[in-house]
Amino acid sequence: MGSLDAGWISPVAIYLVPLGLMLLLYFQRMRRSEQKAIRALRRSQDTGRDEPVSMHPVINGNRCMGCAACVEACPQGDVLGVIGGQADLVNPSHCIGHGACARSCPTDAIRLVIGSERRGVSVPVLTPDFQTNVPGVFVAGELGGMGLIRNAVEQGRRAIESIRKLPGQGEGDRLDVVIIGAGPAGFSASLTALQHEMRSVTLEQDRLGGSIAHHPRGKIIVMHPVDIPLVGKVDMRETPKEELLEFWERVRRETRLRVRENEPVEAIARAEGEGFVVRTAQGAYETRAVLLAVGRRGTPRKLGVPGEDQSKVVYRLADPRQYQGKRVLVVGGGDSALEAATALAAVDGARVTLSYRGPSFRRAGPGTFEQLEEVQARGRVEVLMSSTVQEIGSDSVVLQTEGGRRDLPNDSVIVCCGGVMPNDFLRKIGVEIETRYGTPIS
Ligand SMILES: Cc1cc2nc3c(=O)[nH]c(=O)nc-3n(C[C@H](O)[C@H](O)[C@H](O)COP(=O)(O)OP(=O)(O)OC[C@H]3O[C@@H](n4cnc5c(N)ncnc54)[C@H](O)[C@@H]3O)c2cc1C
Repeated sequence: MGSLDAGWISPVAIYLVPLGLMLLLYFQRMRRSEQKAIRALRRSQDTGRDEPVSMHPVINGNRCMGCAACVEACPQGDVLGVIGGQADLVNPSHCIGHGACARSCPTDAIRLVIGSERRGVSVPVLTPDFQTNVPGVFVAGELGGMGLIRNAVEQGRRAIESIRKLPGQGEGDRLDVVIIGAGPAGFSASLTALQHEMRSVTLEQDRLGGSIAHHPRGKIIVMHPVDIPLVGKVDMRETPKEELLEFWERVRRETRLRVRENEPVEAIARAEGEGFVVRTAQGAYETRAVLLAVGRRGTPRKLGVPGEDQSKVVYRLADPRQYQGKRVLVVGGGDSALEAATALAAVDGARVTLSYRGPSFRRAGPGTFEQLEEVQARGRVEVLMSSTVQEIGSDSVVLQTEGGRRDLPNDSVIVCCGGVMPNDFLRKIGVEIETRYGTPIS
């Protein structure tokens, strides 16, 4: 009888023991991931970075079954986590709206939205063919509310296809379109216009590349395969920003596309009769249509303090190496300020101070806050929260801090206080703007 029992138990044990072990390992892994997610969420809340910047996922708790497919799918890696059997945004400010989470969800529990209840995002009101309420003025790319390079490239192309269909195109002396901005949206729009032999001009306040050119050195760009006009399908997936910019440059050379760089648009006015006059410091362009592909970074915001007009004050960190042995003040609390301070911390002999008027770095994005904390802990950067610049002297700066006035010896100031957003510019030409507080992306 005893031997009969043993014969019955052993085949069951052969299956049950490994199964039990597998389940144990699975639950242990889930527990570790959950603890990591809880720590990330607490950290985001404690540092005031618990609000998404723009486009982000919203999870429907009634549908989510906590399978973590979204956590695995996110290209940023640390935006989502599963807590209490439900997916949650544990690092909301790290989200740049890839949308891979929504596509991977087996229960359709995720919707992408723009803005949140607490943080509204202003976007121009557009028709499906990218036209604003001002006939002849079109918008493409991130300015319209949707981030990502692939979206910008596609919208740039589609906006020009719409402009091509406007009556009167190709007739008279006027340009068919003036494209403002040469980021991914403006670049793609310009190539489309070239492909169709439209009479167009592309004006860029800085250089070809847009926001990508401002990402930190070596930043890996995650890009879904995309059709680039005149080039065809491009599948670069994960590429250092330098390589992507080199590729843009090669395309520009090979297609002989002309981009008027360092030519910011200052005003757009209606022309007599119909069309528009686009003005820059270099000239005026008469055109039937305007495509705004200016992104959301805007024009660098100034501090408005005495001494700001000195040449030692700049609004972007170009090459950190030029600050060797210098006393540098970085001003700002967003990604670019934190990235600049972190990059300068690695420069030989640079003495770096970061001044921010706010009490927390809630606007900082993917990974930048952690990198700053690391160099701060090593004593490479002094961080002065709740401080404001009062005056910039030739070899010093005056700051107002919580502890009172502070005079800092100084050789250079890098102001990274974001941009004057294009909304004012849009309003001036009568473009209607609406604020989105969690509106789903159609
Ligand atoms: C930290 C960070 C990481 C990111 N990583 C990724 C990623 O991995 N993958 C991805 O797909 N996306 C990523 N993005 C998002 C991506 O960079 C943007 O969605 C994309 O660049 C938007 O393209 P755009 O052409 O609409 O605008 P932009 O790239 O912002 O280009 C707008 C251009 O218009 C110009 N301009 C503005 N005003 C004027 C004016 N008055 N006159 C003339 N020119 C003007 C600007 O100088 C700029 O060159 C990231 C963004 C950030 C902030």
